[in-house]
Amino acid sequence: MTSRRTPRIAVIGAGPAGLVCARVLQRHGLGVTVYESDTAAGVRERGGIVDLHADLGQRALREAGLTAELQAAASPSEPGRRMFTPQGELVVDDEFDGPDEDEGAPSVIDRARLHALLAASLEPGTVRWGHRLLSATPGGDGTHRLAFDDGSAAETDLVIGADGAWSTVRPLVSAATPVHTGVTFVEAWFHDVDRAHPAVAELVGYGQMFATGGGKGLIGRRDGEHIRARIVLCDEPGRRRTACIAPAGTAAVRAELLKRFAGYHERLRVLITDNDGPYVHRAVHVLPRPHTWPHTPGVTLLGDAAHLWSPFRADGTGHAMLDGAELALFLARPDEPGRAVAAYETTMRARRARNRDGGATPAQIFRRTSRDRSVLTDFDTAGYEPGRHGGDLRTVQVGPLPVRDRLRQPAAPRRSW
Ligand SMILES: Cc1cc2nc3c(=O)[nH]c(=O)nc-3n(C[C@H](O)[C@H](O)[C@H](O)COP(=O)(O)OP(=O)(O)OC[C@H]3O[C@@H](n4cnc5c(N)ncnc54)[C@H](O)[C@@H]3O)c2cc1C
Repeated sequence: MTSRRTPRIAVIGAGPAGLVCARVLQRHGLGVTVYESDTAAGVRERGGIVDLHADLGQRALREAGLTAELQAAASPSEPGRRMFTPQGELVVDDEFDGPDEDEGAPSVIDRARLHALLAASLEPGTVRWGHRLLSATPGGDGTHRLAFDDGSAAETDLVIGADGAWSTVRPLVSAATPVHTGVTFVEAWFHDVDRAHPAVAELVGYGQMFATGGGKGLIGRRDGEHIRARIVLCDEPGRRRTACIAPAGTAAVRAELLKRFAGYHERLRVLITDNDGPYVHRAVHVLPRPHTWPHTPGVTLLGDAAHLWSPFRADGTGHAMLDGAELALFLARPDEPGRAVAAYETTMRARRARNRDGGATPAQIFRRTSRDRSVLTDFDTAGYEPGRHGGDLRTVQVGPLPVRDRLRQPAAPRRSW
């Protein structure tokens, strides 16, 4: 990267990492352009609600000057957690007893609202929607030439890869690619639950419910008048990018899921049979840990592009946002930009290294049926490290084909409290 005073900064990807980075840069008077392959904000379903913790997502939003906006859009987290055996017996019931007023409690926000809030905070024209990066070619002096799928191109002094798990920027600094953990979520949605799905509302309660055992499981989470169920399947890790069910089409997927969950009680199987609309398939991938790369002039990574990790910790969004804020803050200092990027990379890696994995991988947890809180506690630290865990998991049942229909996405749910 050159040492000119106002570097040309390009962020690739308008996810939480890229948008926070751009917002904090602009707050400090630095110019930035964000290139995003989606054609507009809000065209993609983003997966329901997310917890923003005080030391991660909330801190990033403070640096972005958006705390009041977060407070207006978020709710306190609902701490209720229930645990069932596959036979339908309720073995843990931590009741929801009103909003948690603790200062450190996470805020819950719908991902679509968070995305809209961040996108709206940027100066008009900052995000170039409909620009998929095809390649970034080093100029040899720290600059890069970016080529997009609409035929346009741009020159940059710093290209920031905030383009998620399958980053196009990452190969500039690292040969690492995501590995399938063996865990796949098949997501199902229930709307207007108290009226239309009382059995599901009763099962999940005002928080989350879990049932695990037999290398699979069910997770339900209340989101206002909606409930999102994750039907969890475990397969052999690293086999392929998509797993785990062969048939195409909602009815065929449902029939296959019912076969797999034949040993689960009817009371739980409503999460498979009664959903509104289609299922959504989300295979869980991770990058090797720690994912490091030699400091490379003119390029760096944020968020999932830098450290794709187990979603069971439920903090990937917060880390991505804080990456964006921290990089922007280092760049705003009166320092040579290359040194600012190196300082960010050191800080981000140290923060990520503090999140140690517990003993169990998600797939191992789903083999167990627990009669106490131990499964819930294990989820909080679950990790999967390719190399350390690769190949050690039992194959549950491998369909011969990946799911071919990434089924139509449900309408983005809205919180009503
Ligand atoms: C199933 C599942 C459940 C999860 N649950 C949680 C949870 O409960 N809580 C939590 O905190 N985290 C959760 N996560 C993780 C969380 O979603 C990510 O950590 C977070 O979205 C990372 O943000 P990001 O900005 O780095 O990447 P992304 O959110 O992936 O954003 C990347 C952006 O880059 C764009 N892009 C990609 N390629 C290009 C290109 N070539 N050119 C231009 N634009 C491009 C994409 O369209 C996208 O908008 C979950 C993840 C998964 C898979």
